[in-house]
Amino acid sequence: MKQPTNFRMKSNKTTVIAFAVIVVFGLILTNLSFLYFSYLNTTFEDENRYYLNELSNQMSSSVAKEIKYNFNYLEILYMSAVDEKIETFDKFFAVAEREKDLWNFIDVFVVGENGEIYTSQGDEVMGTGQKFISSIIDERVNSVFLASDANDQRVLIFSKAVDNFSLSGRKIVGISTLYDLNSFEKNINIDAFDKKAKINIMTPNGTLVVSNVTDVTGVGDHNFFRIAEKSAMQNENQIIQMKNDIRENKFGDVVLEIEGKREYVSYSPIGTEQMYFVVSVLVDVVNAQNKLFMTSTYIFLGFVIFIGLGLAIMLYYRYFKGKKEIERIAFVDSLTKASTTQHFILSVENHLRLKHNTKHAIVYTNLDKFRIVNELFGREVGNGVLVILNDIFKVSLADDEMIGRMSADHFILFLNYTNENELIKRFEEWGNNFSDNLRDNKFEISPPVIDYGVYIVNVDEDPECNCQLMIDRAKFSLSGNQISIGTRTHYSIYNPEYNLELMREKEIEDLMEDALKNEEFKVYLQPKYSTDTEEMVGAEALVRWYGKYGMIYPNEFITLFERNGFILHLDHYIFEQTCKLINRWIEEGKEIVKISVNLSQLNFEKANFLDDYISILQKYKVPSKYIEFEITESAIYNDTHRIMEFISRIHELGISCSVDDFGSGYSSLNRLKEIQADTLKIDGIFFKVSDEENKRAYSIVRSIIEMAKNLNMTTVAEGVESREQVDLLKSMGCDLIQGYYFAKPMAVEDFDEQYNKK
Ligand code: C2E
Ligand code: CA
Ligand code: CA
Repeated sequence: MKQPTNFRMKSNKTTVIAFAVIVVFGLILTNLSFLYFSYLNTTFEDENRYYLNELSNQMSSSVAKEIKYNFNYLEILYMSAVDEKIETFDKFFAVAEREKDLWNFIDVFVVGENGEIYTSQGDEVMGTGQKFISSIIDERVNSVFLASDANDQRVLIFSKAVDNFSLSGRKIVGISTLYDLNSFEKNINIDAFDKKAKINIMTPNGTLVVSNVTDVTGVGDHNFFRIAEKSAMQNENQIIQMKNDIRENKFGDVVLEIEGKREYVSYSPIGTEQMYFVVSVLVDVVNAQNKLFMTSTYIFLGFVIFIGLGLAIMLYYRYFKGKKEIERIAFVDSLTKASTTQHFILSVENHLRLKHNTKHAIVYTNLDKFRIVNELFGREVGNGVLVILNDIFKVSLADDEMIGRMSADHFILFLNYTNENELIKRFEEWGNNFSDNLRDNKFEISPPVIDYGVYIVNVDEDPECNCQLMIDRAKFSLSGNQISIGTRTHYSIYNPEYNLELMREKEIEDLMEDALKNEEFKVYLQPKYSTDTEEMVGAEALVRWYGKYGMIYPNEFITLFERNGFILHLDHYIFEQTCKLINRWIEEGKEIVKISVNLSQLNFEKANFLDDYISILQKYKVPSKYIEFEITESAIYNDTHRIMEFISRIHELGISCSVDDFGSGYSSLNRLKEIQADTLKIDGIFFKVSDEENKRAYSIVRSIIEMAKNLNMTTVAEGVESREQVDLLKSMGCDLIQGYYFAKPMAVEDFDEQYNKK
């Protein structure tokens, strides 16, 4: 009788234990999967926000460029009218008509002092009381507004407030152009997120100016902040953050709840026009793909846990198999079947922990201009390209090497590493295979350039084996100097110095004072050539730093020195070295050309800084005709008054002055008239534009040169690199050219050798 009782007791105990194990196990598993999913979710969210920010920055800079161009046009039109002494409407509109096609605007009109509008037909197109009219009459600023034209087409109105201008006896206070919104929108990537992104341009206080969702010309509230505030209480803090960022002219992103739905909102400033670019996308839209993936995985997981637990007692091994299956789904990229980032990281970390004495490289790939492939040929072609690339990588991997796909065109590879040459060989082979396979598969695109960012794994230095950090570093190395292999492959290897940008700034700050004392700063001279005779007739003094890192170029330290004030010492030093040099030339009886020296804006904040400079001039007995000061357009813009005084003082001394980098900001030709500078240096940016922008860029250059002539200013074109540009500038009547085509900046010895032998 005992035995059965015993048996029953035992069996009851087993059941209880089994049940407890199952419950505990189930709880743990549920918790773990919950953690795992929220981890996945935040990673997705981070990635999406990153992409959205990138998109908004990109769009805002192309919009800024477009806006800048349009204001440049208004400026030029106005100056032409003033310079050519145009006094009637007919003549004014004839001038406007001349350039109409080049700038693709629909119409030009002017605004009179009472808000009346004159078009080329002479009559009013729109009623008064429009927003842009009050921006002209009351606020006296440049503005952009959205409106509807006579045919109910949506158009943009660019306006510029003008002074001292009348036509046919009427006082004119503003000039405006009408742009077709479509041609403007071409520059904005509205296809993003299946055209579901809301794209807005607004003023810093939230007034919507342009929007692809609301009709901002219609009735209703068109203030972004107010709309958001009204929409939901919890938006308040986010809006405060946004306003703070905007006040500081920073970009950023927030999540807002609008009409009951959460939206990612990313914003960035558009140039200095006091306007903000805001892109928002419903969180649901962005996450739609992830959500689908997540929910299906979730349901599947729940299902498997359920079944798995039910069967656990009998079929433990089956449960493990089920788990494997889940992993496969959560860990595999659906397009290429490469690992997801999470899986890649887990596998690499496990591998490194087990075998830490082997050498490895983490490689992050980028396809150059891949977005364009998607745009021009469609997503399907883009996907096809990615699959091909993935397959090429995959077949060449050894057993213990791994591949993952992070996002879009970014793969991550975990490779065995012997040396750089072996790595380059593989890159080369992949590049060749990529071209071949694209061709074999009848893709009619030229193979995109592949960039590889490489991080060499050193387990001794990173015993934690933090794979995410390694990937970040591999990715980061792409922002450094890349080495080309042939024409279709670039790579760069992570160098800890890159990441130390901030530390490097600090290091530079620690070194700069000694560097000045030890005369590590050297004067380089870049010749300026006469466009007529093509002979050297002047030069610009540019600083170089020969420190313990070798030569450092000014773009690495000038802005830092402008921030920390050290530029004052440096400018002073360079000026003194230049005077010393001229003094030596005089003593050696050499022929001397005028040397221009850069003056940072900060100098003008220091009272009497000119006195110091004058005493240097006297100390080295340098005749003032050999010196020219270069002051940037932006300095003049920011500090017009003090600079006007400065220029009139140096003119009394016989020193001349040039406006540097003209055209790189919001050119104000009006200011130019006021300040009486002698020379205008046209910024090199006009010679570095794409082919499509070429015509407009040259049209600006031509107008600048004409205008400078009317103001009796000498013109210098900077950054000129080709014969065609020289010939073109010659035909436009530009006086001087400074650029690599004729000569690069050179050490004084080389300058002496080349130009000053005698
Ligand atoms: P910047 O005054 O506009 O000087 C012209 C820059 O354009 C120089 O760069 C010159 O090397 C470069 N450049 C000239 N021709 C060409 C060309 O054909 N193609 C290209 N791609 N570049 C060309 P650099 O010497 O690196 O100077 C950069 C900037 O650093 C200067 O721009 C200037 O703003 C600042 N800087 C240099 N020296 C001084 C200085 O002593 N004081 C101050 N305050 N700023 C300086
Ligand atoms: Ca300069
Ligand atoms: Ca310049």
